[in-house]
Amino acid sequence: MLAVRNLEVVYHDVVLVLRGISLQVPRHRIVALLGANGAGKTTLLRAVSGLLDVHDGKITKGRVELGDRRIDGLPPARIVRNGVRQVMEGRRIFAELSVEENLRLGGHTAAKAIGANLTRVYDLFPVLRDRRSGTAGYLSGGEQQMLAVGRALMSDPELLLLDEPSLGLAPRLVQQIKEIIVEINDQGTTVLLVEQNAAMALDIADHGYVLENGRIVMDRPAAELLADDDIREFYLGLG
Ligand code: ATP
Repeated sequence: MLAVRNLEVVYHDVVLVLRGISLQVPRHRIVALLGANGAGKTTLLRAVSGLLDVHDGKITKGRVELGDRRIDGLPPARIVRNGVRQVMEGRRIFAELSVEENLRLGGHTAAKAIGANLTRVYDLFPVLRDRRSGTAGYLSGGEQQMLAVGRALMSDPELLLLDEPSLGLAPRLVQQIKEIIVEINDQGTTVLLVEQNAAMALDIADHGYVLENGRIVMDRPAAELLADDDIREFYLGLG
């Protein structure tokens, strides 16, 4: 479904951050993208969702394809309409608006299906249904993360890009968000999951890539990555 081919990205015309990256996310799968701080994971997601411009970044080589369509160079709104939706790191929600207002805003590109999408999101996250009239800024960190994911699902994307959904969450909530990602995927949404929590990501992913200094250094089925002692120790920090 998603193919990134030989992608090079530069910030401010000088800083080369992605150095020829190729990866594939097949339809209906969960693919994990792992790597240390600063490896380039967020940059790759920005390149896919069209958000590099905002950060003065530019694709200088390579391409991004969705099915048989080339999407690099399209404006972000067009990329959303093509079925790609990114959940940013750090749960950007509208703190002063209610939970449901946040969700409705997330669904503006799919206005006809807003009722059905709301039901889907509330079924996935019953806590959001309970708090739907409450101010989003008063939700706990975990609930805000769920709201950020729920908002992205309001456009019923075919491909969901998740940037560190477990960041800062207590273990119980990490477990919960993990189960929800699996459920979203079971419902037919393809997932590209960026995580520092390699154990969490590989546990649910079909395939894993490890990014180091803007290059892919590992490209293997998730189960193989998890089972390899050297990889566990040196790349995944799992000892
Ligand atoms: P993290 O987990 O810390 O978010 P990451 O793997 O997602 O790390 P990126 O955020 O993609 O990494 O950053 C990759 C490199 O690009 C880093 O060296 C970072 O400092 C640099 N970078 C990111 N955004 C910009 C920007 N707007 N201008 C210049 N450099 C940037």
